[in-house]
Amino acid sequence: MSNSGTAEVLIPRSLFVIEDIDNLIIDVEDLCSVSISWEDGFVSELKPLKNKITKPKNILFPRFVEPHSHFDKSFTWAAFPNLESNYGGALSANLQEHKTRSTDKVLERVDKSLKLAIQNGYRAIRSHIDTYKGQSIDIWSELFKLQKKFSSELTLQYVALAPLEFWNTTDGEDLAKMFSSNGGILGGVVVPPFNKKDTSKFLAKMLLLASKNKLEIDLHIDESIIEPGAGIKVLLETIENLNINSIPITCSHLSSLISLTNREILKLGEKMAERNIKVIALPLTNFWLLNRSNKTTSLKRPVAPIKQLQNSHVDVSLGSDNVQDPWYPFGDFDPFYTLSCSMPMLQLNPWERMTLSSIFLAPSRLLNLKWDGLIKKGCPADFVILDAQRWADVFSRNLKRKVFINGDLYC
Ligand SMILES: [Zn+2]
Repeated sequence: MSNSGTAEVLIPRSLFVIEDIDNLIIDVEDLCSVSISWEDGFVSELKPLKNKITKPKNILFPRFVEPHSHFDKSFTWAAFPNLESNYGGALSANLQEHKTRSTDKVLERVDKSLKLAIQNGYRAIRSHIDTYKGQSIDIWSELFKLQKKFSSELTLQYVALAPLEFWNTTDGEDLAKMFSSNGGILGGVVVPPFNKKDTSKFLAKMLLLASKNKLEIDLHIDESIIEPGAGIKVLLETIENLNINSIPITCSHLSSLISLTNREILKLGEKMAERNIKVIALPLTNFWLLNRSNKTTSLKRPVAPIKQLQNSHVDVSLGSDNVQDPWYPFGDFDPFYTLSCSMPMLQLNPWERMTLSSIFLAPSRLLNLKWDGLIKKGCPADFVILDAQRWADVFSRNLKRKVFINGDLYC
């Protein structure tokens, strides 16, 4: 059978569940030697490789989950470059791009992004889609068709990234209604400077609309160097005043929080954990766009304080964000590119459980996927297998990888 197989591989200790742990050979970087078999697209056996003198020559990961991307504008850098490389420049190039945007162009970008993402090893992706007043709702039926077309290879979630006020219009209500039957998430931007009263009012409208239609919310929030934590504070206050607990909320970016004291971060983190608000750290765009000066090199780079938030029991995922568009000129939907940059930027140790949680397990929970990403008997045979024996092999050179989807070699 083609969707069956067996392999001797290394798997990071925190990414699999095995019964017979006594005989497990674990190396200094927490990579374990195991034998894995799969049948009919599911893992049928996982056992320690006993008395092995030679180390397996491959590392196996579950296929990856990307919690935050922007398929609708990917690869627009050449036509809409942002050579100043700052937030303001990205926003104005983005608005220029909107003027020439058509459904066909967006679908082409989504299609190209999806194909790359699948062959690079992703199994699920959440993508924001710019949404604005006057835009035809028809684009969404086409996007949902594309989502269905690729569904056997990848789970795709859409977030309608709109100005907050949009969710207080009839267009916004219509879209929310459409999302309640097709899936889809309400998105918005809360970045200072903003009018606190208006922001709170529109956030409340958005939260109530999400509650009414049983939808989730994913906000670009505090992607800034000024007014640390201003957005999350307004969001928490608004939720408290409305007294609603049932809406799953994701805070993407949350970068300015890093300028608060650790005590303040922990306190805010505890409040977020209480409300089950999840966070996505996006180091690549944050490091690229924020606090940029042409004359000076600064070490001050706002990015979500992953470790402090994890210490407050907030579920933090690590994501890529933009690919070759005005917001970020590089990348190609390759998890290993994102991770190779992120490890040194954020001083994350890949051999640690909490790092791997932010890459594999937290994003699976965030997207509410059927499979939590842990390799165990009965889980989908969805793997990325690398020619590698050490973490240095994973993050240092051109990788040779094989992607397995439902037990079949995809590429
Ligand atoms: Zn984004």
